[in-house]
Amino acid sequence: MVKLTKLIDDSTLVAPGAKSELRKRVTVADDILPEREAAEEATKENAKAIDALQDALWAERHRSLLVILQGIDTSGKDGTVRAVFNRCGPLGVSVTPFGRPSDEELAHDFLWRIHMAAPKKGVIGVFNRSQYEDVLVVKVRGLAPADVIEQRYDQINAFEKHLHDNGTRVLKFMLNISKDEQRERLQARLDDPQKNWKFNASDLEDRKLWDDYAKAYETVLDRCSTEHAPWRVVPADRKWQRNAIVSAVVRKALEDMAPVYPKPDWKASDFQIT
Ligand code: AMP
Ligand code: MG
Repeated sequence: MVKLTKLIDDSTLVAPGAKSELRKRVTVADDILPEREAAEEATKENAKAIDALQDALWAERHRSLLVILQGIDTSGKDGTVRAVFNRCGPLGVSVTPFGRPSDEELAHDFLWRIHMAAPKKGVIGVFNRSQYEDVLVVKVRGLAPADVIEQRYDQINAFEKHLHDNGTRVLKFMLNISKDEQRERLQARLDDPQKNWKFNASDLEDRKLWDDYAKAYETVLDRCSTEHAPWRVVPADRKWQRNAIVSAVVRKALEDMAPVYPKPDWKASDFQIT
């Protein structure tokens, strides 16, 4: 069994208040996680444990977990959901992808649609993209005035604190891939008929803005990694390393929450089933 303690404790974490130094962070984790088979085994074990813990979380119906996945196109957000939560039934996990806002969503403040999708008590919520798009794509493509975007970092921190204080544990993962890895994944979407459907020409436009996105991500990590909702930067060039790391962190968070099955206020012997 692989020991993921190191990954959970420090190397991926963005310490609150510290500079994230995104550009110095690795996109492969061979030194810590060299063996594919062991990592895949760990992911399966973690997914099983996450399912069992989620069951208790639901029985308790008291708190929730929110897992936010961010990353550039092809960074593996969907694949991570599939690998980490594949043991959980659809009742226990709600996955919400955030795409371009609708007219209705744009008519509200940017957190409106986000708050509506926040997990109910007892549920694990997974966001595929999130409120952070409003300081990432919106900033890079200039979709809102700079002063409006500038206020959003504090608004996001306050919103996440509000969730935290109301019983939602917030985990945030930035899936960090290299520009070369993205080229290969985009090329695979062109070459492999099974992957053609994933190809989107606008991804090529975003790829041209790689450095602007890196800068916008760095600002997010510098300003929005907090005690109550810290960011982790996950080396994501190798899918099996990415899955092992995310699943370990999610499992550890649920273990720390330690949900317990409620004790009944009756005795089985009080009842007779006829
Ligand atoms: P995908 O995740 O590939 O389905 O693409 C979703 C697209 O929606 C991405 O290009 C995002 O950048 C975009 N998107 C998500 N949230 C926002 C937002 N708040 N404003 C503008 N575009 C967004
Ligand atoms: Mg896309």
